[in-house]
Amino acid sequence: MINKDNKSYCSLLWNGITINANGVIRPCCRFDVYDTSIKELSTTNLLESYNTSFFESVRKNALEDKTISACHKCYKEEKHGITSLREHHNKLAYNTHSNLFTSAENIEYIELFLGRECNLACHTCKPLLSSTWEKEVKKLGWTQELVDLNWKSQDFDFKTRSFSLAGYENLKEIKFVGGETLINDRHLEILNTIPSQTRKNIIVDYYTNGTIPFKDSYYNTWKHFKQVKVRFSIDGHKELNEYIRYPSKWNVIESNIKDCLSTYRENVHFRLHTTVSILNIFSLNKISEWWDEISKNSPCSTEEVKFNLLHDPSFLSIATLKQLTTSYDKLVQSEKWLSFIEHSVIEEKHLKLLKHFLNNLDQQRGNSLKGVIPDLSDILF
Ligand code: SF4
Repeated sequence: MINKDNKSYCSLLWNGITINANGVIRPCCRFDVYDTSIKELSTTNLLESYNTSFFESVRKNALEDKTISACHKCYKEEKHGITSLREHHNKLAYNTHSNLFTSAENIEYIELFLGRECNLACHTCKPLLSSTWEKEVKKLGWTQELVDLNWKSQDFDFKTRSFSLAGYENLKEIKFVGGETLINDRHLEILNTIPSQTRKNIIVDYYTNGTIPFKDSYYNTWKHFKQVKVRFSIDGHKELNEYIRYPSKWNVIESNIKDCLSTYRENVHFRLHTTVSILNIFSLNKISEWWDEISKNSPCSTEEVKFNLLHDPSFLSIATLKQLTTSYDKLVQSEKWLSFIEHSVIEEKHLKLLKHFLNNLDQQRGNSLKGVIPDLSDILF
């Protein structure tokens, strides 16, 4: 029996699998390690890749309540009273795992990065997750300090590798992330590999940037599943979203989202998902106000905006505010974000990197930080 006070135990180490856009296997998207012993799906099968000596030792440490360095993002959030992914999943499935191996019957949660193909290059993203970022970085000539350059030009391709979810009979949730998940129909092809009798047990989560209009074929497939939760990734209202989630157009996103919210579909649920960074921390309320306004008369099932903290790149974290001004408490409204900033350890170089990053991007994109986020520009320059 797992001790409830165990701060390292995470059910995802047994029942979760995440496949990166380059085929690398991890327990979840927040697991921060690229250990050379972590295998890629391209070299072996899914469960073999997840039952390596590396993951066995991680599971052993979790059972013994030893700190797992790759889980530092969850620990940091918990320290500041923010619900971590670990806490979220342990609540859903608090299991009594003791075997260091995992099996197809254990797997309840699968997260698939469908590929790097994306029409946007958001400030808070990187080439590993966006083909448009790859093109930008090539023009900028940046170093690893400014952007994570550890990506492979060869994307993992679920289609040509005949990827199937047919063997996972206890699967309860599938999460699709990108790249942009709706940029092609790979997501439907994968859902169609699931036997029809198990579809009704499964919740499907989508993260989309809102730039792609929804097709009837999505709803025709989704109606066979227990629930489909669509999360629109929106980081600002109007021009702030266009600035951060470049080169999106607000009128296109707004029209697509309003279209989705106009028709009731029994098992489809909508929410906004906002990544909180130094770029939007001063105006989070505008996003909530806009969402509340467009969703209040919708016949669809919706819920309030979910705010998640940005950790990478670290210089875009709200923690950098501490270096910019001593009166950040007057600029940031939420107690939980203030506590996070107050207790964060920051590196000297973050300020220099932040300025370099924003200046270079503004120059290349013909954008202006001062025009879009004057509060930040005033304290930064
Ligand atoms: S503790 Fe957090 S980072 Fe570690 S496996 Fe669980 S959810 Fe992922």
